[in-house]
Amino acid sequence: MSVNIGVLGMQGDVAENIVATRAALARAGMKGIVKQVKTPSEISKLDGLIIPGGESTMIGQMSLVNGAIKTIKDKIQKGMPVFGICAGLILLSKNAKDRVVGKMDQPLLELLDVRVERNSFGRQRDSFEAEIAAQQLGIARSRGVFIRAPSIEGLGKNVQAVSKFNEKIVAVKQGNILGVAFHPELTTDPSWHKYFVSMIKPKTGNNQPHQQNNKNRQQRPQNKNQKPKNTPKPVPKNQNKQAPKPAQQ
Ligand code: GLN
Repeated sequence: MSVNIGVLGMQGDVAENIVATRAALARAGMKGIVKQVKTPSEISKLDGLIIPGGESTMIGQMSLVNGAIKTIKDKIQKGMPVFGICAGLILLSKNAKDRVVGKMDQPLLELLDVRVERNSFGRQRDSFEAEIAAQQLGIARSRGVFIRAPSIEGLGKNVQAVSKFNEKIVAVKQGNILGVAFHPELTTDPSWHKYFVSMIKPKTGNNQPHQQNNKNRQQRPQNKNQKPKNTPKPVPKNQNKQAPKPAQQ
């Protein structure tokens, strides 16, 4: 089975995310198509979406003008996994303000229950690279490139802080939403994109909210005859939202 992943292509580092996601699919042994998407019709066919880094005001405004923002919001609310990177994280948030300018009137998806501080580590000349870990996601070590990066504050109760840098939260997960303040696609380390593709189930147009983390992830059987550990009792089709993944991709 194959997954259909889109990288929102209004502005920002779209090509780099396409390359990183293809590499992640290959590493995860998954089949899939990864392409740039812009229109509501392209977005409606996706199993997963990446909103890349760039300029959140620009990406938001362009998505508003062509109607993409409505389709994106609808798909995420129906459970489509989404990965917001830097500007993408800002767009997903319920609230955003700039560290210097304060609250701005910019279109937001308002789905991720956090308050984001834009340009939290300073402006362009304060960009830097740092080592980032997210033990809860199985990412022991990765490189993060911070470019006019935001930080995350005021977490709602369903939001997990999965990574911090200098006491500031720089990565979060809320069900089917993954958000990072830095740019993993600008490194050769595919860990974050690999984690994101593992959140995607190949069911076009019919995704269920995803609750995966290392603690409750089902152990896969080694062979077809071996039952997975901790497997819940089978329930009728369409009711089993937490069903273990099949042994075959
Ligand atoms: N500071 C940018 C914004 O507010 C985000 C920068 C980035 O995506 N690297 O949109």
